[in-house]
Amino acid sequence: MRIVLATANPSKAMEFEQILRPLLPEIEILPASLFLGNDWHVAETGATLEENAYLKATHVFERLWHPTIADDTGLEVAALDGLPGVHTARFAGPNATADENNALLLERLGGCIDRRARFRTVLCYRDRLRTIFAEGIVQGTIAEQPRGIHGFGYDPLFIPDGYDRSFAEMDPQEKHRISHRGRAATSLVSQLIALWNH
Ligand code: IMP
Repeated sequence: MRIVLATANPSKAMEFEQILRPLLPEIEILPASLFLGNDWHVAETGATLEENAYLKATHVFERLWHPTIADDTGLEVAALDGLPGVHTARFAGPNATADENNALLLERLGGCIDRRARFRTVLCYRDRLRTIFAEGIVQGTIAEQPRGIHGFGYDPLFIPDGYDRSFAEMDPQEKHRISHRGRAATSLVSQLIALWNH
C-alpha cells in the first residue's frame, strides 16, 4: 500500500517521511510532487486548519485516487488572541520568508511578558471510504530572539515547555518526538491501524 503526502513543501515532506516511516514501515509514503510535479497548488481558503487540511487532501485524492494525507499547521500565540493561527505561513505577507514572519512576530510581542504559544497540526487522511482527522499540539513560549539552525519556519523562536532550547536547537529526531506534527502523526497512525485491524 502507498500513501501520498499532499504537501508541496520539501522540508515538511521530509519531516513527515522521517516521522511516518518508522510508524508504518510496510507502507510507501510518497510526496504528491512525485505524481503531480511541483506546480500543483491548493488555495488555503479555509477559515480553520481542519478546513485547509481537508481541502488539500481532497484535491490530491481526487486527482490521484490514492489514499492521501494532508496537513495544516498554525502557531497560536496567547497574547495575540491565537494569531497568526490559520495565517501562520503568510503572517508577514503573501510571499513572506520565515525570517520576515519571525521578525514580525517578535515586533508584535515587543515588551510583552506573556510569551505563551502553541503549535497545532491538523492532519486529514482521505481514501475511497473514509475521511479521518487527527490533531497534535505542543505548548511552549516565544523566545526573545531567534536561536538555533535546525528545522524551518518559526523553529528558532519556539521553545517547547519543559525545555530550555528552541526547536531549531534540537536535532530533528528530538523535535519529532515532541512536536505537534509528530503527535498528530502518531494519533492518525493509531486510528488507521485500528481501522485496518478491524
Ligand atoms: P503548514 O500549514 O504546515 O504549511 O504550516 C504553516 C506555517 O507554519 C509554515 O509555513 C511555517 O511557517 C509554520 N510551521 C509549521 N510547522 C512548523 C514547525 O514545525 N516549525 C516551525 N514552523 C512551522
